[in-house]
Amino acid sequence: MAITDTVDWRTELGGGVRVALVQAGSFTSDAGTVFGPVPRILWDRLVADEIHEDWTLTQALNCLLVETPSGRVLVETGVGERMEERRRVQRGVQGHPIVPALRDAGFDPGTVDVVAVSHLHFDHAGGLLLADGSRAFPRARFVAQRGEWEFALGSNPRLQASYEQEELRLIEGWGLEDAVDGSTEVLPGVEVVRTGGHSGGHQAIVVRGPTGSVGFFGDLCMRPWSANPRWVPSFDDFPLTSVEVKASLFRRAAEERWTVVLSHEPRRPVGRLAADRDRFRFEPLV
Ligand SMILES: [Zn+2]
Repeated sequence: MAITDTVDWRTELGGGVRVALVQAGSFTSDAGTVFGPVPRILWDRLVADEIHEDWTLTQALNCLLVETPSGRVLVETGVGERMEERRRVQRGVQGHPIVPALRDAGFDPGTVDVVAVSHLHFDHAGGLLLADGSRAFPRARFVAQRGEWEFALGSNPRLQASYEQEELRLIEGWGLEDAVDGSTEVLPGVEVVRTGGHSGGHQAIVVRGPTGSVGFFGDLCMRPWSANPRWVPSFDDFPLTSVEVKASLFRRAAEERWTVVLSHEPRRPVGRLAADRDRFRFEPLV
């Protein structure tokens, strides 16, 4: 398959809880930044069949639509429709943004009750507004960590470079109404868990049903090689936290056999984590 083809995947967790993968297009990242401190000699064979001539990798914008008896939760919103053309080209943005991608998958954006994003970087929180500035999910509560809002709108220049502050100010009022502190169940069976690491207020999303669980660890687990807690990208704002929190989250996911969905893997984004000496291995399921 081509690296920009979309992957169809849905699962049932029992008790009326269902999870569908919705890919909202893709963008590109410099491969060196994706691997951060890891020397190229250790990673170049892992991406030999996908690296582009300009040393970038295609990164899918993986979102989840969770259906529960109490309502629907959208996890992540991708880049969205509002990025100007020059930047879209620069960032290698391709494919359908979240609203048409959801419709293609058979879901009406007007039926989403909660939007939960792992963090507020442009490739996760970009799809909350339509091109005209109106809300893409008109009836939804919008859930990010309150701490993430503080980092996102703060004045540290390194952090400012990671966020689209002008865009975030347009949704700040909406976001602060339902921002959360720490681990919170946003609907029965759907929990957000504050992790930090990749960004100051980054959160994971865990969906539980009677027959299984799905873990989405945001950019703490963006590609298969992220299963090694020490392999963190150079865009993690708090890498030491990432290493620590990845180890404990991944241990739990491996022990409890959660299905794990990777945030930016284009081709085989769904799998399980298996313990492997002092690290973990991602084993794709589809
Ligand atoms: Zn990302």
